[in-house]
Amino acid sequence: MSEVQPVTVENPRAHRVYVPPRSLGFEAFEALRKSHTMAHIEKVAEEGELVVRGGVGGWGPLLHACGATSSMAGGESPNLRRGVETIGYAESHYRVPPEFCSVIKGQVGMYQLRRRNLEARGKKEMITKVLRFGGGCEQGVMTAELIREEGYDVHIIQPLSAFKLAPERRQEYVDFYVSEAQRVAKWLTGKPIDEDKLAEDIHVRNIIIRKTVEILDLRLKNPLYFPMTRVTQMLRGASSFFATNVNYYERRAQFIDIQDQWIKELKEVANDPLPAYVPIVLAGNMFNIEMTRVIDESRGAIVGSIMAITTLYREDINPVRALGEYLLEMQIKGESSDQVGAVASARKYRIEEEIKRTGAKGVIISGTTGCPYSSLTRQMEYDYFMKKQIPIIAVEGVSSLGIITEEVRMRLKAFIEMLI
Ligand code: SF4
Repeated sequence: MSEVQPVTVENPRAHRVYVPPRSLGFEAFEALRKSHTMAHIEKVAEEGELVVRGGVGGWGPLLHACGATSSMAGGESPNLRRGVETIGYAESHYRVPPEFCSVIKGQVGMYQLRRRNLEARGKKEMITKVLRFGGGCEQGVMTAELIREEGYDVHIIQPLSAFKLAPERRQEYVDFYVSEAQRVAKWLTGKPIDEDKLAEDIHVRNIIIRKTVEILDLRLKNPLYFPMTRVTQMLRGASSFFATNVNYYERRAQFIDIQDQWIKELKEVANDPLPAYVPIVLAGNMFNIEMTRVIDESRGAIVGSIMAITTLYREDINPVRALGEYLLEMQIKGESSDQVGAVASARKYRIEEEIKRTGAKGVIISGTTGCPYSSLTRQMEYDYFMKKQIPIIAVEGVSSLGIITEEVRMRLKAFIEMLI
């Protein structure tokens, strides 16, 4: 009689925790981020420097070339208390309808919160210039008018189209962005764009974008070392360093050094043994930190997102023209944010590219409650990937509060569990 051997069945749902080694890159990044807060930006505004509210992403080099600092470069993340207060002010002070999206309510209510905080400190508002995008967001344009009535100098970048572009009209679109960029420069400085300065910023920005792409590719070998919460911060950092004049040259050099450190670290951990995880692409405009945390904790790993800007600026043409080409390219690829007008019908192709690049097993589409743009894109993308039999889930929620509902939490967990 043969001896019966005990059989060990490995439970695929058993949870093994990967503890990432210490990262000098992240420690340096945190220190850099904390060295540049809203308080620093307020101080330079008080000293008479040009500071604007809003406006980063692909527009960063233009702001710097105009000698402006964006308040968005202050590295402050949403928090629950501030989110509740700003949404409350939007509804009570500005009479913004409750059904408007929370992002816009958070943004508009912030003006009242700031005013009250400044008054309590016996100060007056020094950041009075506001740059808004009109791309795909009617609510944003409407609330910008409310701000204007309060005495802010609001400049709205006109929309091209958030829904459909005709390829044969490309040159016309680029011309449009070139004239929008010149309008921004005129509004900020009274003069046309300083082309030499812009060309230099574009060159360095391309260095950072290439390194960002390298980091995102290397990260595929070990996404647990570099979880999405950190990727989000890195991507924000990569765009906001170009929207500040506070220690600009020093800070951008430090950021490039940090990127090199990340590349080195990611190469070192590439072959670390990892617990099982579910690779996922996350797309949508609710990049809520709590949501990414739930995904990380459920053993999902966000390996791709359309938030990452991978488009390069052309360096072989006039820099203002290169900026126009770049802004159009980002919009077509769906890399610009929704307010900037990522083309709704094109986003699904960018998501698909990310699935192919990363080998993701599923897609999570997230949208902000009350956003007409994202409810449209969510539906289109849901239908598209369902037809292709790619697992997909669409969720919605409130961005500015940094929390998600119990229902969304359960749905995300169940979705990831299903893919294990
Ligand atoms: S979430 Fe939608 S409605 Fe809200 S600001 Fe963004 S684009 Fe506008």
